[in-house]
Amino acid sequence: MSPHSSGASLHDFILRHPRLLVITGAGLSTRSGIPDYRDADGQWKVTPPMQFREFRDSAAARRRYWARSLAGWPRFSTARPNEAHSALSRLETLGHVTLLVTQNVDGLHQRAGSRRVLDLHGRLDRVRCLDCGASGSRENFQQRLGSANPGFGAPAASIRPDGDALLDPSVIEGFAVPACAQCGGVLKPDVVFFGEAVPPARVDSARAALAQADAVLAVGTSLMVWSAYRFLRAAAEAGKPAAAVNLGRTRADGQLALKLEHDCADTLRSCIAALSMRRGARTAGHRAVNRVDAGGYNPRLQDSRPAPAPAFATDRKDDDG
Ligand SMILES: [Zn+2]
Repeated sequence: MSPHSSGASLHDFILRHPRLLVITGAGLSTRSGIPDYRDADGQWKVTPPMQFREFRDSAAARRRYWARSLAGWPRFSTARPNEAHSALSRLETLGHVTLLVTQNVDGLHQRAGSRRVLDLHGRLDRVRCLDCGASGSRENFQQRLGSANPGFGAPAASIRPDGDALLDPSVIEGFAVPACAQCGGVLKPDVVFFGEAVPPARVDSARAALAQADAVLAVGTSLMVWSAYRFLRAAAEAGKPAAAVNLGRTRADGQLALKLEHDCADTLRSCIAALSMRRGARTAGHRAVNRVDAGGYNPRLQDSRPAPAPAFATDRKDDDG
């Protein structure tokens, strides 16, 4: 399927289901230089990332994490949004996004101009104390890490999706990790690790947005992680269709109304162009009556349909549901 026909299929889907809960994953940010975790079959390309319990319980694991993160942060933090981020920002402007739920921790949707964003798995540009809950900027902590480890070396040439990098074990052994400035406790990036719970308030926000949506659109994600896949399950239980744009298989392939195995930036660009053209034609036709685009999502209008009550079995970020 060409990018054009793929974009046309998505365009048709959105015309039929104008209010979307959008779910994004690592595939969105690969063009920004942040690699994704999984191959086309949804299997790990790299060693699976650190589990929460390992980070919490092992000082050696925390040294390894922060040493790699110190090296990977400069490249991660300077990544720029790409065309796919811009297209989804435009989709919001056109009134089609009830909420964009991203599994990415890079903040690139916001930098591309999206406003209705839920960072399901947190943000890597913040750190939080596991003991007292104090939070601070990663940029500031990066300086503390650098000062505590003079002569650490140059930034890494390659990084992983969670912003860390591969380092020699001898470098990690002598690495010093600064403690919380408030209480001397353990600092952790403000992201949801594998094996850690997604804060319930975030799940509630996504559920509320799903209740307002006509359909789910998954972009650049294999949906292998339960904390995101459950929204596809919830949509199915509520009788709402789902579409996915992803190079490779997704965990939801069996239930998708539309599956586009194509580059997400190309597909979205083609789709947005068609939507914009249609809106332009409508605006010209209805300029005299000055009304809201009937095809778009108007958040001020209350949806009278009852909210679905999907069963959310667990809040943990895990592969298995
Ligand atoms: Zn603290």
